[in-house]
Amino acid sequence: MARLKLTECPHCLTHVLPGRDGLCPSCHESTADAPLNPMTKLRVGADTPVVDMCCTCARQTDERETITLRAAVGPTGFMRFLWMVLVTIFFFKAWRAFTQGERGRTPALEAHVGRCRECRRRGELIPEHVNRETDKVTLLVRREYRDLVEQRAKKARAPREARS
Ligand SMILES: [Zn+2]
Ligand SMILES: [Zn+2]
Repeated sequence: MARLKLTECPHCLTHVLPGRDGLCPSCHESTADAPLNPMTKLRVGADTPVVDMCCTCARQTDERETITLRAAVGPTGFMRFLWMVLVTIFFFKAWRAFTQGERGRTPALEAHVGRCRECRRRGELIPEHVNRETDKVTLLVRREYRDLVEQRAKKARAPREARS
């Protein structure tokens, strides 16, 4: 299978195939001129290795931050919106009790990342993107942190690959 060479755009951090003019097809900025962005995107799930580094400032730390995602419940899309409007107006309390009870029964995703106390005090990590199908969240992390996680993940896979 032929693989296209993707470049990480230093402006929007998306992996893109720059045009002949070097422009990012996503944000239309030049992918060549800007210095490497210290932050990058990392997809994190329950099975992602955790390393002893703060993902925000790249300092060494054994502290962790947990990202918790509750499973979505109920109908989706427009029906859900309509339903929520109606129910919010008339049965706010009952609805809240219902959804909280429902959420309590569905398994939630918990992912962990290394993050120092100081950075956690400044605010919790907000996922850039949440993928409910793969149960992964996309976070903005330091490039060093991502490299370390990828190394660790590769090492974890290596014994299995050696046997096959
Ligand atoms: Zn871009
Ligand atoms: Zn930090």
